[in-house]
Amino acid sequence: MTLILKDKAALRAWRSSLPTAAKLGFVPTMGALHAGHISLMELAQAGSDRVIASIFVNPLQFGANEDLSRYPRPLEADLAKLEAAGVEAVFLPSVDDMYPSGASTFVDESMVSLPLCGAERPGHFRGVATVVLKLFNLVQPHFAWFGQKDAQQCAVIERMVRDLDVPVEIRRGPIVREADGLALSSRNVYLSEQDRAAAPLIYQSLRAVEAAYWAGETDAEKLAELGLSVLARSERIVPQYWELRDPESLGAIARVGQGGALLATAAFLGKTRLIDNLLLTPGSV
Ligand code: AMP
Repeated sequence: MTLILKDKAALRAWRSSLPTAAKLGFVPTMGALHAGHISLMELAQAGSDRVIASIFVNPLQFGANEDLSRYPRPLEADLAKLEAAGVEAVFLPSVDDMYPSGASTFVDESMVSLPLCGAERPGHFRGVATVVLKLFNLVQPHFAWFGQKDAQQCAVIERMVRDLDVPVEIRRGPIVREADGLALSSRNVYLSEQDRAAAPLIYQSLRAVEAAYWAGETDAEKLAELGLSVLARSERIVPQYWELRDPESLGAIARVGQGGALLATAAFLGKTRLIDNLLLTPGSV
């Protein structure tokens, strides 16, 4: 049985009952669990003695016009998936428990959080970094697993942990995709049938740019244009950004050099905003 820890007090009691020597792995989520989340649970199980997940739809990381109220919350199904995956415990706090009124302290990463999703979603990474630091302080894990699907989120959290000396080791899990290449996302359930049919173009755009890079093109602007041209094959897709960035600093690059590049895109299908990315690893071209 997956133990359900409904508030901070229950979590703290559980945490202090663990043997000191036990290595604790942690997988934070917003629920609506899919195989991408479960892959992180499995990686955590393989790399730690004990594993805890959290499900918390964090209001602080949603903008005013975003999908906080309609974000899927299939709690029963989520608990069944955690159970089936053999996850030992899940932290399920309420918003009031996590954010008693009057908080005036937030975490602002000020470099890797600025471009890409940070530019399009002001305050998003502040909300992410703040809730993740709170969760780390509460859970006190040795390892925490995050998906490469949210590559910029991984970068923000890695820098937060480094800059603020947070005693947690961050690990990244690979992107889990549908058979047609669409990256699994809790938001995929919003897609209409036609939008779902167009959505694999997002991954195809990343793969087309990867192929062009391996064929010898290194100019970042030309590669991004190629990515956008693939998205343009469906008028249902409205791109928000398609960029090549330095994989470490997420700074702008003019060419793909020895450091490789993070190919990153965000696009709307109807009201649904999807993101995807692909890491170009250095090689001779
Ligand atoms: P979320 O519930 O969307 O906040 O995601 C929780 C964790 O699952 C984050 O670390 C995500 O990066 C990760 N994740 C989401 N989708 C995928 C996916 N398709 N493959 C691997 N990890 C994922």
